[in-house]
Amino acid sequence: MQLPDEMTCPHCGSIYERTYTKVSMRDKDYADCDVCERRLDSWNGSVIPMHRLIKRGELP
Ligand SMILES: [Zn+2]
Repeated sequence: MQLPDEMTCPHCGSIYERTYTKVSMRDKDYADCDVCERRLDSWNGSVIPMHRLIKRGELP
């Protein structure tokens, strides 16, 4: 079981809380940032991150 952590969007600086869900089948996917709509995170395995926006970043 992985503990929640925080991550920052590398593109706009938005801060997300990331929690993890274990699934029975491996999954390869990615998530886009809610604010700048660029690639936020990607994964390949059976532990899937869920992202909850905590603080919006500044768009350029
Ligand atoms: Zn972003």
